[in-house]
Amino acid sequence: MNKIGVHALTFIGDIENHSIENCLSRVAKIGYDVMELPLLNPDALDTNFVSKIYEKFNIEPTVSLGLSFKTDISSEDQERVNAGRELLFKALQKTIDVGSSNLCGVIHSALQKNDTPKTKRGYENSLSIIRDLAEEANKNNVTLSLEVVNRYETNIMNTAQDALDYIRDLDVPNVKVHLDTYHMNIEENNYSEPIKLIGKDNLGMFHFGENHRGYLGSGHIDFDETFKSLKEINYSGIITFESFSSEVVDPVLSNTLAVWRNLWSDSDDLATESLKFIRSGLQS
Ligand code: MN
Repeated sequence: MNKIGVHALTFIGDIENHSIENCLSRVAKIGYDVMELPLLNPDALDTNFVSKIYEKFNIEPTVSLGLSFKTDISSEDQERVNAGRELLFKALQKTIDVGSSNLCGVIHSALQKNDTPKTKRGYENSLSIIRDLAEEANKNNVTLSLEVVNRYETNIMNTAQDALDYIRDLDVPNVKVHLDTYHMNIEENNYSEPIKLIGKDNLGMFHFGENHRGYLGSGHIDFDETFKSLKEINYSGIITFESFSSEVVDPVLSNTLAVWRNLWSDSDDLATESLKFIRSGLQS
């Protein structure tokens, strides 16, 4: 049985203690198992408090992050690579301290629109930093899941095949692939091939997002095929619902993701309906 999660930006646009507590109380009431915490500002995260609040509401934390150009480990600029390394090791420590065994997202490169293709040296820089990070993560039983995102958000991995090539080049046991239906809709031929290509052993995290990132089922993502394929590979990991609206905004992440529209205004209703949608899809 998969644990089902929800991204914190469904409810809150910052990661201050009172916001996280408010968010977790609602997430627990709705009935989710997991809440994904985006490390919007890692330095500001009070892991001592936050880990206790997750425990209080019996919710499992997962942590996600997207690098920027300044911290792009797939850059050829060593200063940026070093800054990215430092940020990733800090993020890993926050992940451990908050009590999570999952660090996911766009940690392999900048979560930004590139104006050139990836380069060999940049790609190798990314592999080298992720290899070091994975070694440290492994000592703490943390799995890194690298998110495959669309061409406007990275040039390192846009398809499941890109991600599979990357983790084969890396060849370490605790680095897996993170797929997201929103991005698959843009880059893949369908939803079954990428899921089957990655398979149970290499799939570390799965995001459910509609094509416009609003209510699940209100757009044109083929969730029937997605559920069927996840069941076919016996995926037993976490499925997290991810949605963004101009109703809940983080000034950096929302602008990076081009969240200009109001797709919903009632976070609790959205999260309740999404949990129902995912549960019934998994059971059918
Ligand atoms: Mn995602």
